[in-house]
Amino acid sequence: MHYDILIIGGGPAGISTALHLDQCAPGLAARTLVLEKANYPRPKLCAGALVADAEILLQRLGLEVSEIPHMDAESAHFEFEGNGLVMRVPKSHILRIIRRDEFDAWLATKARERGIVISEGIAVEKVTPTATDVLVSTDQGDYHAQVVVGADGSNSIVRRCVFPEEPVYTSRAFEVLAQPISDSNHGMKVAYFNFFPLSAGIAGYTWDFPTQLKGRPMRCWGIYDSKVLAEKTRLSLKETLAAEMSLHGVNLDDYELKGHPICWFHPSSRLAVPRVILVGDAAGADSLFGEGISMALGYGRVAARAINDAFGRRDFSFRDYGRRILFSPLGQALTIRTIISYIIYNLHWAWFQKLLWWRLKPIVILVARVFVLNWAKRMQ
Ligand SMILES: Cc1cc2nc3c(=O)[nH]c(=O)nc-3n(C[C@H](O)[C@H](O)[C@H](O)COP(=O)(O)OP(=O)(O)OC[C@H]3O[C@@H](n4cnc5c(N)ncnc54)[C@H](O)[C@@H]3O)c2cc1C
Repeated sequence: MHYDILIIGGGPAGISTALHLDQCAPGLAARTLVLEKANYPRPKLCAGALVADAEILLQRLGLEVSEIPHMDAESAHFEFEGNGLVMRVPKSHILRIIRRDEFDAWLATKARERGIVISEGIAVEKVTPTATDVLVSTDQGDYHAQVVVGADGSNSIVRRCVFPEEPVYTSRAFEVLAQPISDSNHGMKVAYFNFFPLSAGIAGYTWDFPTQLKGRPMRCWGIYDSKVLAEKTRLSLKETLAAEMSLHGVNLDDYELKGHPICWFHPSSRLAVPRVILVGDAAGADSLFGEGISMALGYGRVAARAINDAFGRRDFSFRDYGRRILFSPLGQALTIRTIISYIIYNLHWAWFQKLLWWRLKPIVILVARVFVLNWAKRMQ
């Protein structure tokens, strides 16, 4: 089977690439196939917190995420040892929290309504670029394409095929869905980020977000370790999360804890070879918080334009794709987040964290608004 474009993976990065292609090059979108190994709605371990950047990118695609079940967090609290700072967005929510099985299935339905063809239940096993096209071997036969987009997540097979020797930077996140505790002093519409695990050598934070399951209010708890402090001895992530949850009257052992790696963006990472480009977690998410949904949507926007230009010029080298990502507002935000995570996770001493979260609130909020968030508005 021959296609102009094969997108491997039907998560937010893959579907965003297809939707952006439909927007900027409908002719190419009609000659595109998305291969997804699972069947929608498929489970995806993720807290599902969308920042405003994700909503902006969706709105530009003519999509309104409020169509699907969600919970809004009105404020985000960033804490260290019982104190910290609060971020709000005037007259709006700071985070919109969706369930990923529902979100990804909704996104795929929207793409199909626009004529994008998605084949479910097909797992890609190998990707081999040749001089004339790319051979994509799957568990159900071979495909050929002029261009392949690797949108197959943090454990990307596409990345492993085209960059077998490249270093991969990965963090780890564990997550659990728990019943809300009514006498907890944690507010229902508040998202909490707690950086206390830094004292235990864990380069990250615990989170506690409002969410819902089939319309029932729940809390999503989790712990993130960027592994920037790889050489440090650290406490177990499970025990550290359990300790925090028990402080709020929740017993982790009552629930199922699941973990997954997140591949994060490093400015030196290679993102393309001739005829093959990477998007989303396959290219690299945010190292600071492990945030990746808005980034996945943003990668799709840059990738679609790069593919359109490649077909226009009949030049499939994609030699400028890495630079396009790096110098886009998305790449700038990802680079700044990588730098910030190296700084604040390496300076893990309590006195520094107290200075940061307790005393430097206006500076932290300013840096967050200018450099960490609000990049999607600047995307071309
Ligand atoms: C515990 C946890 C919590 C998180 N919380 C948040 C959060 O609150 N907010 C946020 O923004 N980000 C969060 N993230 C990160 C976020 O989940 C990812 O950044 C995001 O899913 C990346 O989207 P993607 O499309 O690149 O990859 P994915 O969502 O992983 O999609 C990849 C798709 O490719 C398919 N696929 C994989 N291999 C193959 C193959 N061989 N052949 C065909 N198809 C294949 C998969 O089935 C999947 O559908 C979290 C991650 C974890 C692990």
